Amino acid sequence: MSKVLIIGAGGVGRVVVHKCAQHPEIFSEIMLASRTKSKCDDIVADVQKATGHPAMQTAQVDADNVPELVQLIRSFGPKMVIHVALPYQDLTIMDACLETGVHYLDTANYEPKDEAKFEYSWQWAYQDRFREAGLTAILGCGFDPGVTSIFTARAAKHHFDEMHYLDIVDCNAGDHGKAFATNFNPEINIREVTQKGRYWENGQWVETEPHEIMEVLNYPNIGPRDSYLIYHEELESLVKNYPTLKRARFWMTFGQEYLTHLRVIQNIGMAGIEPVKYKGMDVIPLEFLKAVLPDPGGLGENYTGETSIGCRIRGLKDGKEQTYYIWNNCSHQAAFDETGAQGVSYTTGVPAALGAAMLLTGEWGGAGVFNVEEFNPDPFLDKLGEWGLPWQETVGADLEL
Ligand code: NDP
Repeated sequence: MSKVLIIGAGGVGRVVVHKCAQHPEIFSEIMLASRTKSKCDDIVADVQKATGHPAMQTAQVDADNVPELVQLIRSFGPKMVIHVALPYQDLTIMDACLETGVHYLDTANYEPKDEAKFEYSWQWAYQDRFREAGLTAILGCGFDPGVTSIFTARAAKHHFDEMHYLDIVDCNAGDHGKAFATNFNPEINIREVTQKGRYWENGQWVETEPHEIMEVLNYPNIGPRDSYLIYHEELESLVKNYPTLKRARFWMTFGQEYLTHLRVIQNIGMAGIEPVKYKGMDVIPLEFLKAVLPDPGGLGENYTGETSIGCRIRGLKDGKEQTYYIWNNCSHQAAFDETGAQGVSYTTGVPAALGAAMLLTGEWGGAGVFNVEEFNPDPFLDKLGEWGLPWQETVGADLEL
């Protein structure tokens, strides 16, 4: 029975609030706080109607402002903060958690707003402070990073003596009927997919041009899809935590239509993060673009099809070659029917809420800053299906990569 503070009232926040409220035996009191309080009020009204949770409240907070966060945390007194606002706020929220003595969980690593660069170094630098405070910071507990990292931990624990080749494969075969939309925050999403590709091979990072490497990969229940090698943040911690990996790559599917829009957006400068002067005002093109693109949180209605995300791994078990594939498929429609959010928000929000439950029930813990593959994967994966994301695995899989 614990109080939890959820920060961020976007698509992911909506799912986290639903999932926490479905488990009042763990999350006995819930506060949702974000920049725009009316969005929190709407979500909490929907969730109360769906679940009947008896103790939910909302608040306004600017999560860029540590004193404001500290004041809110002190007044509510949660045991932990689930941060599903934007990666720009990771460090301010971690600072506020340290100042108030509460645990921390997020789904995306820190990115400076003016630098289109994401890596764990900034958050790993909090290791000693969290350790000394006896607090837990759980980094990257969405789907990818998050479940993909926990899938890898399961592979390492139960199916391999040594993992050599890891390919994380992320397919969204959904159709939202819009000419162009991103499935989560457009600013973060476009920054992520327009950067150079990068993968780990033989002890070093290999850089590629954006979308330079493509393979047609088959996804369960979906079929073949063009899959592009991109850099994704969990690779950084996985190659550190599993040093036997000779190669680690991340693949994401994009349709031709999506890539054409993206190319045009870049070519005309709308993906820019440097301010431009417009009618005497400083405008950041990518922030302006976000304002005119469809709200990812509103894509759920009429969104058909499925996501399929998993890990394809080769290595050694008992001295023999072993192959392994573990994945989840998630239906956009089923996610929407349950929570009012589409599949990408759902696959992120469910693991965030379950990761918080792991901490609050004592299955995960420890003092310091942890990536999720460092925890025991078993209790999390035992519950993941029940919480809405059933997974499957094939040992001795016929892998394409
Ligand atoms: P949205 O843009 O839909 O929602 C973000 C929310 O954060 C909004 O409610 C926004 O407020 C709020 N917010 C932004 N800045 C502040 C601030 N300074 N103070 C308080 N609140 C603020 O994003 P999503 O829900 O799609 O994504 C949430 C997070 O999940 C992101 O960090 C994203 O990177 C991550 N993610 C992780 C994935 C994974 O698998 N690991 C996959 C997908 C997303 P307002 O409504 O006022 O704009």
